[in-house]
Amino acid sequence: MGHTFTTIIEPFRIHSVEPLRMTSEAERAKAIEDSGYNLFNLHAEDVLIDLLTDSGTGAMSRDQWAAIQHGDESYAGSPSWFRFEAAVKDLFPFRHVIPTHQGRAAEKILFAVIGGPGKIVPNNTHFDTTRANVEATGAEAVDLLIAEGHDAATIHPFKGNMDLVALERLLAQRAADIPVVFLTITNNSGGGQPVSLENIRGVSEICRRHGIAFFLDSCRFAENAWFIHEREPGQGEREIADIVREIASLADGMTMSAKKDPFGNIGGWLAVNDDALAEQCRNLLILTEGFPTYGGLAGRDLEAIAQGLKEAVHPDYLRYRIQSTAYLGNALSDAGVPVVLPIGGHAVYLDAKALLAHVAPLEYPGQALSVALYQVGGIRSCEIGSVMFGRQPDGSEKPASMELVRLAIPRRTYTQSHIDYVIEVVKAVAKDAPSLRGYRMVHEPRALRHFTARYEPIR
Ligand SMILES: *Cc1c(COP(=O)(O)O)cnc(C)c1O
Repeated sequence: MGHTFTTIIEPFRIHSVEPLRMTSEAERAKAIEDSGYNLFNLHAEDVLIDLLTDSGTGAMSRDQWAAIQHGDESYAGSPSWFRFEAAVKDLFPFRHVIPTHQGRAAEKILFAVIGGPGKIVPNNTHFDTTRANVEATGAEAVDLLIAEGHDAATIHPFKGNMDLVALERLLAQRAADIPVVFLTITNNSGGGQPVSLENIRGVSEICRRHGIAFFLDSCRFAENAWFIHEREPGQGEREIADIVREIASLADGMTMSAKKDPFGNIGGWLAVNDDALAEQCRNLLILTEGFPTYGGLAGRDLEAIAQGLKEAVHPDYLRYRIQSTAYLGNALSDAGVPVVLPIGGHAVYLDAKALLAHVAPLEYPGQALSVALYQVGGIRSCEIGSVMFGRQPDGSEKPASMELVRLAIPRRTYTQSHIDYVIEVVKAVAKDAPSLRGYRMVHEPRALRHFTARYEPIR
Protein backbone atom coordinates (compact mmCIF):
# COMPACT_ATOMS: atom_id res chain seq x y z
CA MET A 1 0.00 0.00 0.00
CA GLY A 2 1.07 3.55 -0.65
CA HIS A 3 3.81 2.90 -3.19
CA THR A 4 4.24 5.48 -5.92
CA PHE A 5 6.36 4.95 -9.02
CA THR A 6 7.67 7.50 -11.46
CA THR A 7 7.99 5.46 -14.69
CA ILE A 8 5.44 6.67 -17.21
CA ILE A 9 3.33 3.67 -18.17
CA GLU A 10 1.73 3.71 -21.61
CA PRO A 11 -1.91 2.88 -20.74
CA PHE A 12 -2.16 0.34 -23.57
CA ARG A 13 -0.24 -2.64 -24.90
CA ILE A 14 0.59 -3.31 -28.53
CA HIS A 15 -1.82 -5.40 -30.59
CA SER A 16 -0.61 -4.86 -34.14
CA VAL A 17 2.79 -3.54 -35.22
CA GLU A 18 4.18 -1.58 -38.15
CA PRO A 19 7.79 -2.07 -39.28
CA LEU A 20 10.25 0.82 -39.22
CA ARG A 21 12.86 0.92 -42.00
CA MET A 22 16.47 1.59 -40.97
CA THR A 23 18.51 3.86 -43.26
CA SER A 24 22.16 4.99 -43.25
CA GLU A 25 23.27 8.60 -42.88
CA ALA A 26 24.50 8.53 -46.50
CA GLU A 27 21.09 7.33 -47.76
CA ARG A 28 19.41 10.10 -45.82
CA ALA A 29 21.78 12.76 -47.17
CA LYS A 30 20.79 11.69 -50.69
CA ALA A 31 17.06 11.50 -49.87
CA ILE A 32 16.95 15.01 -48.40
CA GLU A 33 18.93 16.48 -51.29
CA ASP A 34 16.50 14.85 -53.76
CA SER A 35 13.66 16.38 -51.74
CA GLY A 36 14.97 19.91 -52.22
CA TYR A 37 15.75 19.97 -48.49
CA ASN A 38 12.02 20.02 -47.75
CA LEU A 39 11.02 17.33 -45.25
CA PHE A 40 7.47 17.30 -46.64
CA ASN A 41 8.92 15.94 -49.91
CA LEU A 42 10.52 12.87 -48.33
CA HIS A 43 9.16 9.37 -48.79
CA ALA A 44 7.83 8.45 -45.35
CA GLU A 45 9.61 5.08 -45.56
CA ASP A 46 12.92 6.96 -45.52
CA VAL A 47 11.98 8.39 -42.10
CA LEU A 48 12.74 6.47 -38.90
CA ILE A 49 10.83 8.48 -36.28
CA ASP A 50 8.19 10.69 -37.87
CA LEU A 51 7.49 13.73 -35.71
CA LEU A 52 6.39 15.90 -38.64
CA THR A 53 2.90 16.17 -37.21
CA ASP A 54 0.48 14.65 -34.73
CA SER A 55 -2.25 15.06 -37.36
CA GLY A 56 -3.94 11.85 -38.45
CA THR A 57 -0.84 9.85 -37.47
CA GLY A 58 -2.03 8.42 -34.15
CA ALA A 59 -2.66 4.74 -33.48
CA MET A 60 -6.32 3.78 -33.43
CA SER A 61 -7.59 1.62 -30.61
CA ARG A 62 -9.10 -1.87 -30.79
CA ASP A 63 -12.46 -0.26 -30.14
CA GLN A 64 -12.02 2.21 -33.00
CA TRP A 65 -11.18 -0.61 -35.44
CA ALA A 66 -14.24 -2.45 -34.17
CA ALA A 67 -16.36 0.69 -34.63
CA ILE A 68 -15.17 0.90 -38.24
CA GLN A 69 -16.93 -2.42 -38.87
CA HIS A 70 -20.18 -0.68 -37.94
CA GLY A 71 -19.56 1.96 -40.63
CA ASP A 72 -22.75 2.41 -42.64
CA GLU A 73 -22.15 4.00 -46.02
CA SER A 74 -25.71 5.17 -46.70
CA TYR A 75 -25.57 8.44 -48.61
CA ALA A 76 -28.10 10.18 -46.36
CA GLY A 77 -29.04 9.62 -42.73
CA SER A 78 -26.55 6.85 -41.99
CA PRO A 79 -26.61 5.50 -38.41
CA SER A 80 -22.85 6.25 -38.36
CA TRP A 81 -23.71 9.92 -38.83
CA PHE A 82 -26.11 9.90 -35.89
CA ARG A 83 -23.50 8.23 -33.67
CA PHE A 84 -20.93 10.80 -34.77
CA GLU A 85 -23.29 13.72 -34.19
CA ALA A 86 -24.24 12.42 -30.72
CA ALA A 87 -20.56 11.96 -29.74
CA VAL A 88 -19.70 15.49 -30.87
CA LYS A 89 -22.72 17.03 -29.13
CA ASP A 90 -22.01 15.10 -25.94
CA LEU A 91 -18.83 17.19 -25.54
CA PHE A 92 -19.71 20.24 -27.66
CA PRO A 93 -23.45 20.87 -27.42
CA PHE A 94 -23.72 23.26 -30.39
CA ARG A 95 -27.01 23.23 -32.31
CA HIS A 96 -25.53 22.38 -35.72
CA VAL A 97 -22.70 19.96 -36.48
CA ILE A 98 -21.37 20.01 -40.05
CA PRO A 99 -18.92 17.19 -40.90
CA THR A 100 -15.92 17.96 -43.13
CA HIS A 101 -12.95 15.94 -44.40
CA GLN A 102 -10.45 18.00 -42.36
CA GLY A 103 -10.27 21.07 -40.16
CA ARG A 104 -9.24 23.32 -43.03
CA ALA A 105 -12.38 22.44 -44.96
CA ALA A 106 -14.41 23.70 -41.99
CA GLU A 107 -12.29 26.88 -41.97
CA LYS A 108 -12.70 27.37 -45.72
CA ILE A 109 -16.48 27.10 -45.53
CA LEU A 110 -16.82 29.34 -42.47
CA PHE A 111 -14.55 32.11 -43.74
CA ALA A 112 -16.09 31.97 -47.22
CA VAL A 113 -19.36 32.93 -45.50
CA ILE A 114 -18.19 35.42 -42.87
CA GLY A 115 -14.79 36.65 -44.16
CA GLY A 116 -14.03 39.08 -46.99
CA PRO A 117 -12.05 42.25 -47.69
CA GLY A 118 -12.01 44.78 -44.85
CA LYS A 119 -12.83 42.15 -42.21
CA ILE A 120 -10.55 41.34 -39.28
CA VAL A 121 -10.33 38.00 -37.48
CA PRO A 122 -8.53 38.05 -34.11
CA ASN A 123 -7.11 34.85 -32.61
CA ASN A 124 -4.59 34.06 -29.89
CA THR A 125 -2.44 32.69 -32.73
CA HIS A 126 -3.81 31.61 -36.09
CA PHE A 127 -2.68 28.17 -37.18
CA ASP A 128 -1.18 28.22 -40.70
CA THR A 129 -4.27 26.86 -42.50
CA THR A 130 -6.55 29.14 -40.48
CA ARG A 131 -4.50 32.20 -41.37
CA ALA A 132 -4.38 31.14 -45.04
CA ASN A 133 -8.15 30.62 -45.18
CA VAL A 134 -8.84 34.01 -43.53
CA GLU A 135 -6.41 35.79 -45.86
CA ALA A 136 -7.69 33.94 -48.96
CA THR A 137 -11.00 35.84 -48.54
CA GLY A 138 -9.18 39.19 -48.33
CA ALA A 139 -9.71 39.49 -44.57
CA GLU A 140 -6.93 40.21 -42.10
CA ALA A 141 -5.79 37.63 -39.51
CA VAL A 142 -4.59 39.29 -36.29
CA ASP A 143 -2.78 37.44 -33.48
CA LEU A 144 -3.37 38.77 -29.95
CA LEU A 145 -1.33 36.41 -27.78
CA ILE A 146 -0.22 37.51 -24.29
CA ALA A 147 3.36 38.81 -24.20
CA GLU A 148 4.63 35.76 -22.26
CA GLY A 149 3.56 33.57 -25.18
CA HIS A 150 6.09 35.24 -27.49
CA ASP A 151 9.08 34.41 -25.34
CA ALA A 152 10.26 30.80 -25.53
CA ALA A 153 11.92 30.81 -22.11
CA THR A 154 9.27 32.53 -19.95
CA ILE A 155 7.44 30.13 -17.64
CA HIS A 156 3.69 30.72 -17.45
CA PRO A 157 1.02 28.04 -16.91
CA PHE A 158 -1.20 29.28 -19.75
CA LYS A 159 1.05 30.77 -22.40
CA GLY A 160 -1.67 30.33 -25.02
CA ASN A 161 -3.89 32.96 -23.40
CA MET A 162 -5.40 35.77 -25.44
CA ASP A 163 -4.32 39.30 -24.52
CA LEU A 164 -7.72 40.48 -23.24
CA VAL A 165 -6.70 44.16 -23.07
CA ALA A 166 -5.62 44.11 -26.72
CA LEU A 167 -8.82 42.27 -27.68
CA GLU A 168 -11.01 44.79 -25.84
CA ARG A 169 -9.16 47.66 -27.55
CA LEU A 170 -9.51 46.12 -31.03
CA LEU A 171 -13.21 45.40 -30.53
CA ALA A 172 -13.85 48.91 -29.22
CA GLN A 173 -12.31 50.36 -32.40
CA ARG A 174 -13.35 47.90 -35.10
CA ALA A 175 -16.30 45.81 -33.86
CA ALA A 176 -18.25 46.35 -37.09
CA ASP A 177 -15.44 44.76 -39.13
CA ILE A 178 -14.98 41.72 -36.88
CA PRO A 179 -17.26 38.80 -37.85
CA VAL A 180 -15.79 36.41 -35.29
CA VAL A 181 -13.14 36.11 -32.58
CA PHE A 182 -11.22 32.82 -32.60
CA LEU A 183 -9.32 31.10 -29.84
CA THR A 184 -7.01 28.16 -30.61
CA ILE A 185 -6.86 25.51 -27.88
CA THR A 186 -4.11 24.53 -27.41
CA ASN A 187 -2.08 27.15 -29.26
CA ASN A 188 -0.39 24.96 -31.87
CA SER A 189 1.74 27.59 -33.60
CA GLY A 190 2.82 29.09 -30.26
CA GLY A 191 4.31 25.97 -28.69
CA GLY A 192 1.22 23.83 -27.96
CA GLN A 193 0.55 26.02 -24.97
CA PRO A 194 -2.84 25.87 -23.24
CA VAL A 195 -5.44 28.58 -22.65
CA SER A 196 -6.90 28.89 -19.14
CA LEU A 197 -10.59 28.52 -18.44
CA GLU A 198 -10.48 31.99 -16.90
CA ASN A 199 -9.10 33.40 -20.16
CA ILE A 200 -11.73 31.56 -22.24
CA ARG A 201 -14.41 33.02 -19.96
CA GLY A 202 -12.83 36.45 -20.43
CA VAL A 203 -12.82 36.22 -24.24
CA SER A 204 -16.42 35.00 -24.15
CA GLU A 205 -17.53 37.90 -21.93
CA ILE A 206 -15.84 40.52 -24.12
CA CYS A 207 -17.33 39.02 -27.31
CA ARG A 208 -20.84 38.80 -25.85
CA ARG A 209 -20.65 42.42 -24.64
CA HIS A 210 -19.71 43.56 -28.15
CA GLY A 211 -22.21 41.22 -29.83
CA ILE A 212 -19.48 39.37 -31.74
CA ALA A 213 -19.43 35.61 -32.32
CA PHE A 214 -16.77 33.62 -30.43
CA PHE A 215 -15.41 30.43 -32.05
CA LEU A 216 -12.96 27.80 -30.85
CA ASP A 217 -10.32 26.20 -33.02
CA SER A 218 -10.56 23.14 -30.80
CA CYS A 219 -8.17 20.58 -32.33
CA ARG A 220 -6.48 19.85 -28.97
CA PHE A 221 -9.42 20.51 -26.68
CA ALA A 222 -8.75 17.43 -24.52
CA GLU A 223 -5.10 18.27 -23.90
CA ASN A 224 -6.13 21.86 -23.12
CA ALA A 225 -8.78 20.63 -20.68
CA TRP A 226 -6.18 18.39 -19.01
CA PHE A 227 -3.89 21.38 -18.44
CA ILE A 228 -6.83 23.29 -16.94
CA HIS A 229 -7.51 20.27 -14.70
CA GLU A 230 -3.85 20.14 -13.59
CA ARG A 231 -2.94 23.82 -13.39
CA GLU A 232 -5.97 25.97 -12.75
CA PRO A 233 -7.11 26.56 -9.18
CA GLY A 234 -10.39 24.82 -8.39
CA GLN A 235 -10.42 22.61 -11.53
CA GLY A 236 -8.58 19.53 -10.26
CA GLU A 237 -11.68 17.68 -9.07
CA ARG A 238 -13.69 18.07 -12.26
CA GLU A 239 -14.12 15.49 -14.99
CA ILE A 240 -12.36 16.34 -18.24
CA ALA A 241 -15.61 16.03 -20.22
CA ASP A 242 -17.25 18.49 -17.83
CA ILE A 243 -14.49 21.06 -18.39
CA VAL A 244 -14.82 20.56 -22.17
CA ARG A 245 -18.59 21.14 -22.00
CA GLU A 246 -18.10 24.37 -20.06
CA ILE A 247 -15.57 25.58 -22.66
CA ALA A 248 -18.07 24.82 -25.43
CA SER A 249 -20.86 26.60 -23.55
CA LEU A 250 -18.80 29.80 -23.58
CA ALA A 251 -18.51 29.80 -27.40
CA ASP A 252 -20.89 30.19 -30.35
CA GLY A 253 -19.20 27.67 -32.57
CA MET A 254 -16.08 25.71 -33.37
CA THR A 255 -13.87 24.37 -36.10
CA MET A 256 -12.23 21.02 -35.58
CA SER A 257 -9.66 18.71 -37.04
CA ALA A 258 -10.58 15.18 -35.97
CA LYS A 259 -7.01 14.18 -36.91
CA LYS A 260 -5.78 15.59 -33.61
CA ASP A 261 -7.30 14.80 -30.20
CA PRO A 262 -10.24 12.71 -31.57
CA PHE A 263 -7.83 10.00 -32.87
CA GLY A 264 -9.10 10.10 -36.45
CA ASN A 265 -6.84 9.40 -39.42
CA ILE A 266 -9.01 11.90 -41.30
CA GLY A 267 -11.96 14.15 -40.49
CA GLY A 268 -13.18 17.36 -39.01
CA TRP A 269 -16.26 19.45 -38.43
CA LEU A 270 -17.72 22.89 -38.11
CA ALA A 271 -20.28 23.46 -35.36
CA VAL A 272 -22.39 26.57 -34.87
CA ASN A 273 -25.39 27.71 -32.87
CA ASP A 274 -26.67 30.26 -35.38
CA ASP A 275 -29.37 28.73 -37.65
CA ALA A 276 -28.89 31.13 -40.58
CA LEU A 277 -25.11 30.72 -40.53
CA ALA A 278 -25.51 26.93 -40.41
CA GLU A 279 -27.72 27.01 -43.48
CA GLN A 280 -25.24 29.10 -45.47
CA CYS A 281 -22.40 26.80 -44.44
CA ARG A 282 -24.35 23.66 -45.33
CA ASN A 283 -25.03 25.08 -48.79
CA LEU A 284 -21.29 25.43 -49.36
CA LEU A 285 -20.68 22.02 -47.80
CA ILE A 286 -22.85 20.39 -50.45
CA LEU A 287 -20.84 22.15 -53.19
CA THR A 288 -17.41 21.05 -51.99
CA GLU A 289 -17.60 18.30 -49.34
CA GLY A 290 -20.81 16.33 -49.61
CA PHE A 291 -24.27 15.83 -48.16
CA PRO A 292 -24.68 17.21 -44.61
CA THR A 293 -24.85 13.77 -42.96
CA TYR A 294 -21.40 12.72 -44.15
CA GLY A 295 -19.55 15.86 -45.30
CA GLY A 296 -16.24 14.70 -46.69
CA LEU A 297 -16.20 11.46 -44.73
CA ALA A 298 -17.03 7.79 -45.11
CA GLY A 299 -19.39 6.24 -42.57
CA ARG A 300 -16.45 4.27 -41.16
CA ASP A 301 -14.53 7.51 -40.53
CA LEU A 302 -17.51 8.92 -38.63
CA GLU A 303 -17.53 5.78 -36.46
CA ALA A 304 -13.79 5.94 -35.72
CA ILE A 305 -14.09 9.57 -34.64
CA ALA A 306 -17.18 8.95 -32.49
CA GLN A 307 -15.28 6.27 -30.56
CA GLY A 308 -12.06 8.33 -30.53
CA LEU A 309 -13.84 11.24 -28.85
CA LYS A 310 -14.74 9.00 -25.92
CA GLU A 311 -11.11 7.85 -25.53
CA ALA A 312 -9.68 11.37 -25.90
CA VAL A 313 -11.08 12.58 -22.57
CA HIS A 314 -9.99 9.55 -20.51
CA PRO A 315 -7.76 10.72 -17.63
CA ASP A 316 -5.34 7.74 -17.82
CA TYR A 317 -4.69 8.53 -21.46
CA LEU A 318 -4.33 12.29 -20.95
CA ARG A 319 -2.01 11.86 -17.96
CA TYR A 320 0.25 9.61 -20.05
CA ARG A 321 -0.01 11.87 -23.08
CA ILE A 322 1.05 15.05 -21.28
CA GLN A 323 3.66 13.33 -19.09
CA SER A 324 5.31 11.59 -22.03
CA THR A 325 5.56 14.82 -24.03
CA ALA A 326 7.09 16.49 -20.96
CA TYR A 327 9.52 13.55 -20.63
CA LEU A 328 11.02 14.38 -24.04
CA GLY A 329 10.99 18.13 -23.50
CA ASN A 330 12.42 18.10 -20.00
CA ALA A 331 15.20 15.68 -20.97
CA LEU A 332 16.26 18.07 -23.75
CA SER A 333 15.94 21.13 -21.54
CA ASP A 334 17.98 19.46 -18.77
CA ALA A 335 20.68 18.74 -21.37
CA GLY A 336 20.85 22.46 -22.19
CA VAL A 337 18.92 22.32 -25.48
CA PRO A 338 16.76 25.47 -25.74
CA VAL A 339 13.07 24.50 -25.93
CA VAL A 340 9.79 26.36 -25.45
CA LEU A 341 8.93 26.17 -21.76
CA PRO A 342 6.87 24.91 -20.11
CA ILE A 343 6.51 21.85 -22.38
CA GLY A 344 3.23 21.92 -24.32
CA GLY A 345 0.71 19.17 -24.92
CA HIS A 346 1.30 17.51 -28.27
CA ALA A 347 4.82 18.55 -29.15
CA VAL A 348 8.21 19.77 -28.01
CA TYR A 349 9.36 22.95 -29.74
CA LEU A 350 13.09 23.47 -30.18
CA ASP A 351 14.16 27.12 -30.13
CA ALA A 352 16.21 27.37 -33.33
CA LYS A 353 16.74 31.11 -32.85
CA ALA A 354 18.68 30.41 -29.65
CA LEU A 355 20.43 27.27 -30.90
CA LEU A 356 21.41 28.66 -34.32
CA ALA A 357 21.93 32.30 -33.36
CA HIS A 358 24.57 32.54 -36.12
CA VAL A 359 21.99 31.86 -38.88
CA ALA A 360 19.98 34.93 -39.99
CA PRO A 361 16.18 34.53 -39.67
CA LEU A 362 15.66 34.73 -43.44
CA GLU A 363 18.26 32.02 -43.92
CA TYR A 364 15.80 29.85 -41.98
CA PRO A 365 17.51 28.52 -38.84
CA GLY A 366 14.53 26.26 -38.11
CA GLN A 367 14.77 24.68 -41.55
CA ALA A 368 18.52 24.13 -41.05
CA LEU A 369 17.91 22.44 -37.71
CA SER A 370 15.11 20.21 -38.99
CA VAL A 371 17.19 19.09 -41.99
CA ALA A 372 20.08 18.24 -39.63
CA LEU A 373 17.81 16.14 -37.37
CA TYR A 374 16.82 14.12 -40.40
CA GLN A 375 20.32 13.70 -41.79
CA VAL A 376 21.84 12.72 -38.46
CA GLY A 377 19.09 10.53 -37.03
CA GLY A 378 16.25 9.99 -39.50
CA ILE A 379 13.90 12.14 -37.42
CA ARG A 380 11.34 14.20 -39.31
CA SER A 381 10.23 17.45 -37.62
CA CYS A 382 8.50 20.61 -38.81
CA GLU A 383 9.80 24.18 -39.04
CA ILE A 384 7.44 26.69 -37.47
CA GLY A 385 9.14 30.01 -38.09
CA SER A 386 10.09 32.28 -40.96
CA VAL A 387 9.54 29.59 -43.59
CA MET A 388 5.98 29.02 -42.41
CA PHE A 389 5.06 32.61 -41.55
CA GLY A 390 7.65 34.86 -43.23
CA ARG A 391 5.79 35.71 -46.47
CA GLN A 392 3.40 38.63 -45.86
CA PRO A 393 0.09 39.22 -47.69
CA ASP A 394 1.66 42.33 -49.31
CA GLY A 395 4.40 40.17 -50.86
CA SER A 396 7.24 41.25 -48.57
CA GLU A 397 9.18 38.80 -46.41
CA LYS A 398 9.81 39.39 -42.74
CA PRO A 399 11.13 37.21 -39.91
CA ALA A 400 8.57 35.39 -37.74
CA SER A 401 8.49 36.26 -34.04
CA MET A 402 9.90 32.82 -33.14
CA GLU A 403 12.05 30.30 -35.04
CA LEU A 404 10.82 26.95 -33.79
CA VAL A 405 11.24 23.33 -34.80
CA ARG A 406 8.31 21.23 -33.71
CA LEU A 407 8.73 17.62 -32.66
CA ALA A 408 5.07 16.59 -32.74
CA ILE A 409 4.23 13.34 -30.99
CA PRO A 410 1.72 11.10 -32.78
CA ARG A 411 -0.82 9.78 -30.26
CA ARG A 412 -0.17 6.30 -28.77
CA THR A 413 2.35 5.54 -31.56
CA TYR A 414 5.92 5.60 -30.26
CA THR A 415 7.33 3.93 -27.16
CA GLN A 416 9.70 5.37 -24.59
CA SER A 417 12.73 3.79 -26.31
CA HIS A 418 11.85 5.62 -29.53
CA ILE A 419 11.74 8.82 -27.53
CA ASP A 420 15.05 8.02 -25.79
CA TYR A 421 16.59 7.69 -29.25
CA VAL A 422 15.13 11.09 -30.25
CA ILE A 423 16.72 12.63 -27.15
CA GLU A 424 20.11 11.17 -28.13
CA VAL A 425 19.88 12.49 -31.69
CA VAL A 426 18.73 16.01 -30.70
CA LYS A 427 21.56 16.27 -28.18
CA ALA A 428 24.11 15.26 -30.85
CA VAL A 429 22.72 17.79 -33.36
CA ALA A 430 22.63 20.53 -30.71
CA LYS A 431 26.29 19.92 -29.93
CA ASP A 432 27.19 20.47 -33.61
CA ALA A 433 24.76 23.39 -34.06
CA PRO A 434 27.52 26.03 -34.57
CA SER A 435 28.58 24.22 -37.77
CA LEU A 436 25.07 24.28 -39.34
CA ARG A 437 24.46 26.67 -42.25
CA GLY A 438 21.27 28.35 -43.44
CA TYR A 439 19.17 27.75 -46.56
CA ARG A 440 18.01 29.74 -49.56
CA MET A 441 14.56 29.10 -51.04
CA VAL A 442 14.86 28.31 -54.74
CA HIS A 443 11.20 27.51 -55.43
CA GLU A 444 8.35 29.20 -53.60
CA PRO A 445 4.64 28.47 -54.15
CA ARG A 446 2.11 31.26 -53.66
CA ALA A 447 0.30 30.04 -50.52
CA LEU A 448 1.36 27.81 -47.59
CA ARG A 449 4.85 27.80 -49.07
CA HIS A 450 6.38 25.51 -46.44
CA PHE A 451 4.57 22.46 -47.85
CA THR A 452 6.15 22.50 -51.32
CA ALA A 453 9.08 24.97 -51.30
CA ARG A 454 12.52 23.78 -52.40
CA TYR A 455 15.83 24.95 -50.94
CA GLU A 456 19.57 25.02 -51.43
CA PRO A 457 22.10 25.03 -48.61
CA ILE A 458 24.07 28.27 -48.28
CA ARG A 459 27.73 27.25 -48.45
C1 LIG B 1 -4.38 20.84 -37.74
C2 LIG B 1 -4.95 22.12 -37.37
C3 LIG B 1 -5.88 22.77 -38.20
C4 LIG B 1 -6.27 22.26 -39.56
O1 LIG B 1 -6.76 20.98 -39.54
P1 LIG B 1 -6.54 19.93 -40.76
O2 LIG B 1 -7.35 18.75 -40.38
O3 LIG B 1 -5.08 19.67 -40.83
O4 LIG B 1 -7.04 20.59 -41.99
C5 LIG B 1 -6.42 23.96 -37.75
N1 LIG B 1 -6.04 24.49 -36.57
C6 LIG B 1 -5.15 23.90 -35.75
C7 LIG B 1 -4.79 24.52 -34.45
C8 LIG B 1 -4.58 22.70 -36.12
O5 LIG B 1 -3.68 22.12 -35.31
